[in-house]
Amino acid sequence: MSFRIGHGYDVHTLVPGRRLVLCGVEIPFEKGLLGHSDADAPVHALMDAILGALALGDIGKLFPDNDDTYKNISSMTLLRNVSLMMREEGFTLGNADITIIAEEPKLAGYIGNMRDKLSETLNVPINRISVKATTEEHLGLAGNGIGAHAVCLLEEIFPLR
Ligand code: MG
Repeated sequence: MSFRIGHGYDVHTLVPGRRLVLCGVEIPFEKGLLGHSDADAPVHALMDAILGALALGDIGKLFPDNDDTYKNISSMTLLRNVSLMMREEGFTLGNADITIIAEEPKLAGYIGNMRDKLSETLNVPINRISVKATTEEHLGLAGNGIGAHAVCLLEEIFPLR
């Protein structure tokens, strides 16, 4: 069997007056992430990891932020598109591991729901999807934004080339 590995990283600024959506789950908080779409940083990182594994570029190339089609769009809709592209390329998701970097809010209570949503959207068993959260001890982003790393392993289902 042939495998591909991918990594993605994203960060968005926290601002008042925006919804906070992480891995498709809306989280009650006084601020949300600024962006052209819903600014779901962990999903953006995951899409870049999958696209990276496929050597198909990145989400900036696929879903440009100057295109009104993608204004305020749910990143889970974009993830669904990336998942379909992955299957068209002949691959399935072996596993994905996401790390969200946030000083606040506390995310532990939402992790299960996030994994459910990703598993459903990607159409893979939940034991292949990991979501973790950490802080940066008030260094780095220091609560001004939320970042995310994602790595994934893709398994080739049928060789195309
Ligand atoms: Mg982004």
